[in-house]
Amino acid sequence: MYFKIPGPLGVREHSNNHDGPFISKFFHNGVHQAPSHGFDGAVGAPYFSTPLANKVTNSDIAAGLMCEELSEAEFSVLVMALCKDAIVLAEQRQAELQRWDAAAKKRTWIWFNSSSEELRDFLLKGIAATIVSLRALRAKDFVQYSEENIKLGSCHGSVVDPEAAASVCPVDVANKRIMIAPKFCGLSRDKRNPYNGEIGDGDSQLLTLVHEVTHFKDVFGSNDNFYSTFRSIKYVEDPGIRFNADSLAAYIIGTNPRQERY
Ligand SMILES: [Zn+2]
Repeated sequence: MYFKIPGPLGVREHSNNHDGPFISKFFHNGVHQAPSHGFDGAVGAPYFSTPLANKVTNSDIAAGLMCEELSEAEFSVLVMALCKDAIVLAEQRQAELQRWDAAAKKRTWIWFNSSSEELRDFLLKGIAATIVSLRALRAKDFVQYSEENIKLGSCHGSVVDPEAAASVCPVDVANKRIMIAPKFCGLSRDKRNPYNGEIGDGDSQLLTLVHEVTHFKDVFGSNDNFYSTFRSIKYVEDPGIRFNADSLAAYIIGTNPRQERY
């Protein structure tokens, strides 16, 4: 029953949009920007761990599998399909920013509390870098979230966070490894409504992928100040919200927030 303060690696945590209280757990390794809003005293619905959370057994990990019930080939198909979907959505956002009509301005206002030209330029630049990174990703770049891979990404001194769904080393811009933890496998694929195609808010594998990519220093260099799409909206008036990974990811994939801002 907690909501952990984001770690230094740009750790993507599983969350379910409940606004639970924080506990103090933050390891600083000088790589990732420290949260500026560690404690907010938020008290809301408790954190519910998903029953699907731990889908990988020790024997699966030993066998090199990322997710239980998915062969290596099936996992590759999944992550490459997620990349493809993310690219399509990021390109939609890019086109929307280029049009810069009322709908485009409303979406930036919803997620970043601004429709300024300066924000528009910031997003265009970062989304272009997001698309370049997503296009470059291959199945081999999705690796297990382990001490060994943390070191390979140059995040020395950091440890595996057992609560994380995925993680990156923001400085690992040369290789851009996406480290996948067992919790990733239990997340919903994309929260897409099968009837109207809309992407609902909440955590998903698609949101996690884009979230992680935004962390890289040559993309947005984002932070984890406010986890979950729910908290991204709740704290939208924070002056640093444009660097919040979940705000960026939710915006890029075109999330339709439950809590509209009017
Ligand atoms: Zn993160």
